[in-house]
Amino acid sequence: MSFLRHEAILETNQQAYSQQQLLQWSRVQPTKRTRTRITDGCVLIGTSRGQIVASNSLDLDQAEMVGLFISPAFQGQGLGRRMVGEIERLAIQFGMTQLRVEAASPAIGFYRHCDYLTRPGATTVKDPRTKLDSLSMLRSFPQRQTRYGSRIRNLLNRSGIPQDYGRRHRLRLQLEARELATIGTDNQAREQMLDPKSAMAWYEMRNAAQVDGVTLLIASAYRSVGYQLSIIQRKRLTGQTTNEILRVSAAPGFSEHHTGHAIDICSPDSTPLKECFENTLAFEWLTESARDYGFRLSYPRNNRHAIAYEPWHWYHHTSKASVQR
Ligand SMILES: [Zn+2]
Repeated sequence: MSFLRHEAILETNQQAYSQQQLLQWSRVQPTKRTRTRITDGCVLIGTSRGQIVASNSLDLDQAEMVGLFISPAFQGQGLGRRMVGEIERLAIQFGMTQLRVEAASPAIGFYRHCDYLTRPGATTVKDPRTKLDSLSMLRSFPQRQTRYGSRIRNLLNRSGIPQDYGRRHRLRLQLEARELATIGTDNQAREQMLDPKSAMAWYEMRNAAQVDGVTLLIASAYRSVGYQLSIIQRKRLTGQTTNEILRVSAAPGFSEHHTGHAIDICSPDSTPLKECFENTLAFEWLTESARDYGFRLSYPRNNRHAIAYEPWHWYHHTSKASVQR
């Protein structure tokens, strides 16, 4: 990818900058921010015949689109606009309705074409990293939200949860399951449901654990957006602040439990939904074997979502490839 960047910088901007300026720009090294964007799954690449010909990425911390490069041979074919559109779609998944870009001078016209406007009060300044002229531009796209996204935005608004919750916690909107299958009752005798495929995987995993002498119980599985909201409202009534609540409960619309793929597991020898679950045989068994059934721990210690450590919360990835050791 660094080759693409180098080539695109040097060949695309010859008329605007001197060779020396372009070399300086192309030598700016990837930073910690670049690595963070990769971990966030926010770097997109376009390929042709196995070669990388386009890249673009989303920086969640800065709510910014960065690193749009198109291989010179592929320019002028609409690929740039497509790469911008894809990053905007990704931003929408994180509940965002606007995006900023620091446009190098030769790219300003292109971004205008993509409906980016000069940020109010912004003027052309030297970019501190590349030392080249750039202009801060912005596009708002509230009308591109999905119906679900708009519903969640309204709901966050009404419940006093910040609108940029998804971006700040690096959490994408989670759709509610369309189909559910029962997985029996939880530790309080309430019926619990999962997506049919995840339900099958749960049965398989639970039975395998049983064979090894380990009992896995259900604390919670599918939860609708409305139910997640009621959990937060209930916690508010006990005097907890929004920040305290959001550290342990995902905001409505962003909980993996909506999808029917997440399950909170407990065991007969520990209090459900407490960190001490990590000291149980059940947790040890899950750590060793859950991935064989497609389940993965979503919120390990010090996770990047700023959500408390949840040894009980396991997510079923339907594609096995994503959980290989
Ligand atoms: Zn959970």
